[in-house]
Amino acid sequence: MSESELLSRHRAVLPNWLALYYDEPIEIAHAEGRHVTDSDGVTYLDFFAGILTNAIGYGVAEISDAVRSQIDTGVLHTSTLYLIRKQVELAEQIAELSGIPDAKVFFTNSGTEANETALMLATQYRRSNQVLALRNSYHGRAFATVGITGNRGWSASALSPVKVSYVHGGYRFRGPFAGMSDADYIAACVDDLRDVLATTTSGDVAAMIAEPIQGVGGFSVPPDGLFGAFKEVLDEYGILLISDEVQTGWGRTGEHFWGIQAHGVTPDLMTFAKGLGNGLAIGGVVARGEIMDCLTANSISTFGGNPVSTAGAKATLDYLLAHDLQGNAAKLGDKLLGGLRDVAGRYPVLGDVRGKGLMIGLELVGRGGDPAPGAAGRVLEETKSRGLLVGKGGLHGNVIRLAPPMTLTEEEADEALSILDASVAVADREVS
Ligand code: PMP
Repeated sequence: MSESELLSRHRAVLPNWLALYYDEPIEIAHAEGRHVTDSDGVTYLDFFAGILTNAIGYGVAEISDAVRSQIDTGVLHTSTLYLIRKQVELAEQIAELSGIPDAKVFFTNSGTEANETALMLATQYRRSNQVLALRNSYHGRAFATVGITGNRGWSASALSPVKVSYVHGGYRFRGPFAGMSDADYIAACVDDLRDVLATTTSGDVAAMIAEPIQGVGGFSVPPDGLFGAFKEVLDEYGILLISDEVQTGWGRTGEHFWGIQAHGVTPDLMTFAKGLGNGLAIGGVVARGEIMDCLTANSISTFGGNPVSTAGAKATLDYLLAHDLQGNAAKLGDKLLGGLRDVAGRYPVLGDVRGKGLMIGLELVGRGGDPAPGAAGRVLEETKSRGLLVGKGGLHGNVIRLAPPMTLTEEEADEALSILDASVAVADREVS
C-alpha cells in the first residue's frame, strides 16, 4: 500500500483534529541513527524526533538489547501491582538527578498523564483547585491538562476541572512586553504575576505549572532567572512550582540537565516523558515525598512504569549520561545557533533565531514583522524536499522547531544548516 492510499484510509477512520505534517504525509518504515526512511524508500535526516520520542536516535543497540532481554523473559508486563526491578532502579536514578529533596517518582505512559498526576497531587496537597499557568503554554490533551493549556490552537476543550489564571513569561517576541531588556522583562512578569494573584485568585492557589522553554509554543526562551523571581512570589503564598520538563529534560538545553536549573530554583514537582523511553511510552512525575504521598486513597497506572518501558528508559538514561550527550547538545547547539543567526542576517523572513542546546526555534516574519505562517509552511515543505525533517509550532504557526537526537554529529549539523539556508532563501523570495 502506498503512502497516499494509507493517507486516504487514515482520513476516513481517524479524527479530523489529529494533526499530520506535510502536504503528502509520510510513513516511517525504517530508521538508523539520526536518519529515517519512509515506505516509499526516501531517507531523511530527522531534526525533530529528538524531542518527540527519540532523544538519542534510532537503532541504538544498548536500548534494543535492554528491551529485547526483558521481552525474552516472557514478561512484557504482568501488572504494576507487583514489584518491578527496573522501575525501582529508574526511580532511584531520577529522584537523585532531580535535585528535589526526599524525592519520590510515579511513572505514567505519557506527558499528559504525568501533568494530570502533578495537578492532582498539587491540588490535593494544597486543597485548592486554582492553578497558574503561562500564556501560550501546552501541557497535554486530557481534561485538566487541556483545560490549563494556554495556547489556544491546542486548547481543544475549554471545559476544565481546574480554575486557571494565566501569566506572562512564556513568549516574549511579541505582546506587551516585547523588546524589553531581560531585567525589565522579568520585573514586568513578576508585576503581572502579583497582579493576577491579587485580582483573579483567592490567593490560596495550588501551583504554578510552566515549561522552562515553551515547546509547542515555539521554543521561546525566557531570560535566565525568571522562574527564580517567580518562585520568590510563589513562596510568599505557599504556592507549589511544577516544572514541565517533557521537552526540556535530559540535558537537551545543553547547559543544564533540567531546563528549570537555568533559573536557580528547585521546583516542588517535575514532570517528564517523550524522549526518556527513546521511543517507548513512558512519562512520570518526581516530587517532594510529602507531596507525592499526600493521596490517601489507592491510585495506580496499569501500564505506567511497566517492565519493558522502564528497561528501555533505564538504558536510555544510562546511555545519555555515559556519552555526555548534554555536552554534545551544548556544543552542536552553539554551532547551529551561530550558523542560523548568519542565515537570519541574510534573509529578513527569519525574524528571530532562539534556543538553548538542541532546542532551536526559527520565527518566520513578513516584511512588516507580522507572523508569517505561510513562510513557515514553505520551510517545512522545502526542507522535506531536500531531505530534512523539522517541526513547526508557535501561537501563530510561524515557528520552525529544530530538535534532533542528542547524538547528532558535526557533519549532520552542517548538512542541516545548508538545507535550512536554501529553504529559508526560498521562503524569503516568496514572502511579502
Ligand atoms: N507537556 C509538554 C511540554 C509537551 O510538549 C507535551 C507534548 N507535546 C506534553 C506535555 C504532553 O505529552 P504527551 O503527548 O506525551 O501526552
